[in-house]
Amino acid sequence: MLGSARAYSPLIHTESAYLKRMRMTVLASGSKGNSTVIASAQTRVLVDAGLSCRELLKRMAQVNEDPAALDAILITHEHVDHVAGLSVLARKLRIPVYFSEPTHRAWVRMMTPSTTMTYAKWLEHVQKQKEARAAQDTLDNGSIQIAAASANADPEEEDEPEAVAKRDPACLPAVEYFQPGTNFSIGDICITPFTTPHDAADPCGFVFESTTEAIRMAIATDLGYVPPNVRSALQRIDVLLLESNHDLEMLKDGPYPWAVKQRVLSRVGHLSNHATAEFLTRDYDGCAMYIVLGHLSETNNVPELALLSAEQALGERGKLLGNRVLLAQQSAPLASICL
Ligand SMILES: [Zn+2]
Ligand SMILES: [Zn+2]
Repeated sequence: MLGSARAYSPLIHTESAYLKRMRMTVLASGSKGNSTVIASAQTRVLVDAGLSCRELLKRMAQVNEDPAALDAILITHEHVDHVAGLSVLARKLRIPVYFSEPTHRAWVRMMTPSTTMTYAKWLEHVQKQKEARAAQDTLDNGSIQIAAASANADPEEEDEPEAVAKRDPACLPAVEYFQPGTNFSIGDICITPFTTPHDAADPCGFVFESTTEAIRMAIATDLGYVPPNVRSALQRIDVLLLESNHDLEMLKDGPYPWAVKQRVLSRVGHLSNHATAEFLTRDYDGCAMYIVLGHLSETNNVPELALLSAEQALGERGKLLGNRVLLAQQSAPLASICL
């Protein structure tokens, strides 16, 4: 029998596994919220923050992921199931957020719906944010010195970021831009964002490669089909989080309005179980130790169907019997996959 979610014995990470290698911890995956921790020996990043800050922190605690150890948050695209808790979490942890510029702009527009954001206004906004952050840094450095000098620091100071947030809900501690197709590094993780076909401003997936270990992990969800650039990005991946969003028949017969069904089915929608199986049969190189099926629709899919479809696809390729197929969940985190 092929490896399956039922046979998976969770690898609860110990501090030694923690330090040496690389791991992926899916905190949530599905149409109602997505977030995953990728960690190497020295670096930890959160990919998307699609649940409330409180729920994300709760789930991190459940799987022994220390939020204080996160170095950055990376955003695939601005849909709410990927950014719901972003601003609050980033401000609470005071860590930078990495976006592509069009995604950041779309997110700012979403957070400030009453503002008409022309491109000139956008540039002005970026400049103002830079200045506000520089001013905040000066203030912070001052506060650190004062706090060091006095043991009676004002506890009210803790609430300062939220006061700033009320004035500007799109305010973040720091913003960094990347460009899909161009890699960049955070600590000892080299990150390659790749463009995905999806109905957002500038959607992308990510490949993460440890610069000290020959391990590669990838996240590819929210894509209407698997174009050549995604196929080539997903080569030599050890742990692959891959979308298996809907069952075609369930979607067609399901309760979604016609227009939404068309959107999901379109070339900029989501991968069906069938499309994922087709990728696994035809284009997948068989290198992954784990394939994690994710972004399942709770309305138009059943985990068993997604699993069966992927396992059958791999089963047709006899030599891939060693691939383990796991199911990421919406309602609970998946135990860390440590390599
Ligand atoms: Zn999306
Ligand atoms: Zn999504």
